[in-house]
Amino acid sequence: MRSLARAITGMELPAIEKISESQADDPFQILIATLLSARTQDATTHAASTRLFRRARTPRTMARLPVAEIETLIYPVSFYRNKARHVKACCEMLRSRFGGQVPGTLQELVTLPGVGRKTANLVMILAFKSGEHICVDTHVHRISNRMGWVRTAQPEDTEQALYKATDRRWWPLINLYLVTWGQNVCRPVYPRCGDCAIAKLCPRIGVTVYVRS
Ligand code: SF4
Repeated sequence: MRSLARAITGMELPAIEKISESQADDPFQILIATLLSARTQDATTHAASTRLFRRARTPRTMARLPVAEIETLIYPVSFYRNKARHVKACCEMLRSRFGGQVPGTLQELVTLPGVGRKTANLVMILAFKSGEHICVDTHVHRISNRMGWVRTAQPEDTEQALYKATDRRWWPLINLYLVTWGQNVCRPVYPRCGDCAIAKLCPRIGVTVYVRS
């Protein structure tokens, strides 16, 4: 992780990190941007979130938007119709059950429409500065298996395995480091092992084809 911290210096940050920084860690905007980001390119997530937040910045104002308008604002994020419905339902629940505030526990967050463990963990880390959570997405799952930190078939298992395999002080940083690394170097196909700053530390488990340099 120390080597990764050095290696990612200067690389472009994932969209949610940028939104988190630019919105002064506003839990609501982090929650909504994370909902939009699933299976969507970073640049698309960033642009869609910006359009949506320009129109509404709180659960109350966003809950008043018709689903069709949310769809238009967030298009072309993937599954934009489903996500628009989730965004509206999520805002309505924040209003009716949580007093218009984003709840600060994982157990409450996963009761919101469209919010799974990945989103809830990221909100806990970025918005509430929790040191007790690891957010596992496809990059974290892939790279921690390639590195041999865990041996898991599903991202859901990877989260629990990483709690056991890694030092607690790194938990809130694992997502930032591995997502950045996964987008730039340790890509899903043709990872750039030849140019990888941590190649000496990596057994490349499961990697059969890679870019040599
Ligand atoms: S050596 Fe290859 S597989 Fe290992 S972290 Fe680097 S890019 Fe990924």
